[in-house]
Amino acid sequence: MSIAENYRNVRGRIAKACARVGREPSEVTFVAVTKYAPIDAVNELIALGQRDLGESRPQQLAERAELLQREAPIWHLIGHLQRNKARKILPLVSLIHSVDSVRLLEALDRLAEEMDLRPRVLLEVNVAGEESKEGFEPTELRAAWTRIEKLSRLDVCGLMTMAPYAEDPEVVRPVFRQLRELRDELAASGPLRLPELSMGMSGDFEVGIEEGATIVRVGSVLFDGN
Ligand SMILES: *Cc1c(COP(=O)(O)O)cnc(C)c1O
Repeated sequence: MSIAENYRNVRGRIAKACARVGREPSEVTFVAVTKYAPIDAVNELIALGQRDLGESRPQQLAERAELLQREAPIWHLIGHLQRNKARKILPLVSLIHSVDSVRLLEALDRLAEEMDLRPRVLLEVNVAGEESKEGFEPTELRAAWTRIEKLSRLDVCGLMTMAPYAEDPEVVRPVFRQLRELRDELAASGPLRLPELSMGMSGDFEVGIEEGATIVRVGSVLFDGN
């Protein structure tokens, strides 16, 4: 299958998943995850009309942002950000999906003040409590919430999770549901509305959409067809 076919296929599956639960495809931002794709494949995708691109390594994002300046993609950082890379990354990205500690949040808030920016960030949550995953534990996030609400220079606009790998995407449905419920709980407790839910990858993006994802992050099914 070509990238063009894979691309139409994913767009079609997003539309169908939306239709199943009475949502509009325009409510779901499709981020094409290009971390393993060669630059030619990224260019092909841009030529097909894809604008939102996701990279997990800040260094590769920065290099590609420079290379693709003319095409002006909308960049999403979806992987771990070290504080010492933040200064370089902040002006390049539209959304950081993967903020995983209060320390990083506070560092970004200070940098945003200094650089006169208002970065949009999501908080990564380790819903399933997996050892190997980054992210806040739900209890940790609740405990830090009043501190997070005070970060005046950041637009904390939602939550992100990575579900555990599963053959059957139904297995991850409860994980996505818990992320949505945690969002509802936090939004009800204070001023932050948290409209964005970034959940769903190649193996489970349709379940993510059915459970309320506003952003899905899809890589391998676009470039390898599976
Ligand atoms: C790699 C990655 C994705 C995309 O995963 P695929 O299974 O290739 O679609 C999504 N989100 C994050 C955080 C990733 O690191």
